[in-house]
Amino acid sequence: MSAGAVEGAVLTLNAGSSSLKVALYPATGERPLATGIVDRIGPDGVLRLKDAAGGDIARPGDLSSHAGALQSVLDSLRAAFPGLSLAAIGHRVVHGGARHAAPVRIDAAILAELEALAPFAPLHQPHNLAGIHAAMAAFPGVPQVACFDTAFHRNHPWVNDTFALPREMYERGVRRYGFHGLSYDYIAGELARIAPGLAAGRVVVAHLGNGASACAIQNGRSVASTMGFSALDGLPMGTRCGQLDPGVMLWMMDQGMSAPEISDLLYKRSGLLGLSGISNDMRALEASDAPEAAQAIDYFVFRLQREIGGLAASMGGIDALVFSGGIGENSALIRARVCERMGWMGIEIDHARNASNARVVSSELARTTVMVIPTDEEAVIARAARAAAGTAPF
Ligand code: ADP
Repeated sequence: MSAGAVEGAVLTLNAGSSSLKVALYPATGERPLATGIVDRIGPDGVLRLKDAAGGDIARPGDLSSHAGALQSVLDSLRAAFPGLSLAAIGHRVVHGGARHAAPVRIDAAILAELEALAPFAPLHQPHNLAGIHAAMAAFPGVPQVACFDTAFHRNHPWVNDTFALPREMYERGVRRYGFHGLSYDYIAGELARIAPGLAAGRVVVAHLGNGASACAIQNGRSVASTMGFSALDGLPMGTRCGQLDPGVMLWMMDQGMSAPEISDLLYKRSGLLGLSGISNDMRALEASDAPEAAQAIDYFVFRLQREIGGLAASMGGIDALVFSGGIGENSALIRARVCERMGWMGIEIDHARNASNARVVSSELARTTVMVIPTDEEAVIARAARAAAGTAPF
């Protein structure tokens, strides 16, 4: 158990449909004091919470709702860190709409704006808002900050922001917003710290987790992303389809499928799971001998190669390729497979470095540097929360 009064700390919250990820940061420094998750919010909820030394600090509590889950986290944190005072709370919010290119302090007007954006991200935004409401009720008066997955992409050139639909659709918000922005923001920052020359150039980052996307970052700014209006577009994912001809959806509707049925199919039953019929989990597919598992991996690799090529083309070339997310950080096989046919882009992998998940996995003489950078979305949220708190702890 940790001890000692912790003042001016910031809490980060990432509320999903059935989970709540949390991290507690001290007033200064990058290392969290505690990290954890409430999984399966509901009757089977589980809280896992560890301090910096890896000690279990979770206490039993009511995990049947988002509010109960937050309260249980707070009770556990207060028990582990007596005298804990929070200077600010940062929230991951999936959609910030067309307006927000940076984190924003939450007030009644912002809340109303974020609620109005819920139809654009119906599977995520309502849960993010539930987390905000629960935190505002638990800490009235403590600054709360919304950090958007869309914000990093808000300066895309118009050709990468629009679809070729009647213009009024653009005005009504049908745009290529892009997501995973907190991860890209972190990686762009890390790259600027460890390889400033590359960060000033043309970089493609592949964020490959359960959700997967790739982003073209030129001189530190996002110029194109594989995700668009929703988090369905682009790469195939654990259970999401990725790029899809809209004609397929029209056909499904003609066949009598309802919008909720199509949504369930595209978000929850497609991607690696749909193609393999085995699992949404890349580790399980890599371990399987089934030809369907191999085909699902082939499709994942092929679409990734296409998208990386397209993103590089959108910048007129590429200086670095960065892998991140659970798959990108851990799967030497996927990295090697993706880089296999990319010699034309100056990409050449060093297999020994790749096998050890080294920071740089390209060969010495390759024109394009290939890197592995573990992402840390919580660190980006914590920085924004500290900025909102100012220097004086609440
Ligand atoms: P989320 O998007 O939910 O945060 P993660 O970034 O944790 O997900 O990524 C989860 C994915 O990473 C899963 O498909 C998992 O199988 C994959 N993964 C994790 N470790 C490995 C590994 N050693 N080899 C292959 N895939 C891995």
